[in-house]
Amino acid sequence: MRKNIVAGNWKMNVTASDAKHLMDEINQGTYNCDLIVACPTLYLQMATTKDYQFSLAAQNCHHETSGAYTGEVSAQMLASADIKYGIIGHSERREYQNETDELITKKFNRLVENNMTPILCVGESLDIRQSGKHLGFVANQLKHVLDNCAIRADFILAYEPVWAIGTGETASPEQAQEMHQHLRSVLTSYQKEDTSILYGGSCKPGNAKELFAQTDIDGGLIGGASLKAESFLAIANSF
Ligand code: PEP
Repeated sequence: MRKNIVAGNWKMNVTASDAKHLMDEINQGTYNCDLIVACPTLYLQMATTKDYQFSLAAQNCHHETSGAYTGEVSAQMLASADIKYGIIGHSERREYQNETDELITKKFNRLVENNMTPILCVGESLDIRQSGKHLGFVANQLKHVLDNCAIRADFILAYEPVWAIGTGETASPEQAQEMHQHLRSVLTSYQKEDTSILYGGSCKPGNAKELFAQTDIDGGLIGGASLKAESFLAIANSF
């Protein structure tokens, strides 16, 4: 079923004491959506020992089940620590870690095998948008995973135009809706029309309401504005 969801991606920010403080502040807030916090891996278990109202997401997982992969964290390890969600395919990992659709599909499979819910990120660069090929490009990122995953399980989709991430430039509500509608039609062709589709890219308290009011936008994946409880909670109250 489509749900209203706001997920915060802290990326590689916040010290341990600040993380604890920020989580406590978020937990004191009220909101009318599913709230997810993707904090750095190091802090995930610190949070599972608390009785927080929000859910936790890993920002990544390894594509293999276990083994000699120094420094990596598997989906099985995350699931065993009670983590419910995992972000995969974020544009920063596609760019800096050269993650391909093939690798992202393996990560999707590892999460699903461990009963976790993938938050699959897709999105186009500025060049692709300017070439006018953005709808097909982003749809293909999604189709690659859906065509090649072992089990077509429930997941959350996040449309994040790369040119809008951390730049202060947001897709207009019309641009975002056009893409979300297109992705919804792809999901429908896979009998997955009930999948929630989040918008990500410089989403803030000032623009969240207008974005979330669009027919096919079910919430947001929030980077910078998730690092302050006040702005994160304001976004979570923008439905
Ligand atoms: C993100 O990186 O997922 C993101 C949406 O970042 P920001 O909100 O800072 O643009």
